[in-house]
Amino acid sequence: MALGGSPVADRALEPGADESDPSAGPDSSPERPLMVLTGVSKIYGAGEIAVHALREVDFKLELGDYLAIIGSSGSGKSTLMNIIGCLDQPTHGSYWLDGIDVGSLDDYELSYIRNRQIGLIFQSFNLIPRTTVARNVELPLIYARLPKAERRERARAAIEAVGLGNRGSHVPSELSGGQQQRAAIARAIVTEPAIILADEPTGNLDTASTRDVLEIFFRLNAAGRTIVMITHEPDVAAHAKRVIQVADGQIVADMRQAPVAGPPPAPESVSPDHLQVAHT
Ligand code: ADP
Ligand code: MG
Repeated sequence: MALGGSPVADRALEPGADESDPSAGPDSSPERPLMVLTGVSKIYGAGEIAVHALREVDFKLELGDYLAIIGSSGSGKSTLMNIIGCLDQPTHGSYWLDGIDVGSLDDYELSYIRNRQIGLIFQSFNLIPRTTVARNVELPLIYARLPKAERRERARAAIEAVGLGNRGSHVPSELSGGQQQRAAIARAIVTEPAIILADEPTGNLDTASTRDVLEIFFRLNAAGRTIVMITHEPDVAAHAKRVIQVADGQIVADMRQAPVAGPPPAPESVSPDHLQVAHT
């Protein structure tokens, strides 16, 4: 199929392949963007009630980057993330992901990318209630048709990696918000996706749980995974390597805080002062 030979696809099929030095190999070349959006517009509805959620957005993101998207409520952040996560298609314009024209993919190929190459994290955790953490985390591997023993082992390792080693048999309602979000992160990373997309992942969390989530993102990015995170909070955006600000469906600012190669800004060295943004 069209995805054969694609580095993103290869990564997804080789668990741990991106744990190596992220500065090594052709994948991390700054000249080779992972995502390219050209003239992307998204219009919801039509006629009098049409909402222009994105207006001719041009945007590139490199493999291994850690991007924060900031902007006031309704500015188009989630719409942009849904498009780059292959959950939605632009009304106009093109989106190329790792050399593939996403607009040309059929439903099977789109669901393949979503399941194997993109890990999604939401503000409201979106765990399945009355279902154990272990089972929640295993679910993407069931969709990916992995054998049971491998599913169990990989779910266990992902739960361990987010520091929930002894909570696998609990159901979400027995966990704190911070623990539920860490379970959701385990579910997002269990397929070893190259890309992690998080929409306001710390929006419902207290300071300590926010710090836990940012520490996990730090480690994931340092291990070579590309992260795109929407946030309202300047001190959260300060942990990313790059920050874009969206206003009224357009990118109005683009700030580089740390090079793509190498680790993200160290949590203690970040200064959120230059990231103040209107919050509605
Ligand atoms: P943000 O995530 O920055 O708060 P969104 O991307 O969710 O913004 O929304 C951008 C604009 O598009 C808003 O005006 C919102 O009301 C509108 N919008 C988002 N989703 C839909 C939808 N499914 N149908 C109609 N309008 C929508
Ligand atoms: Mg949103």
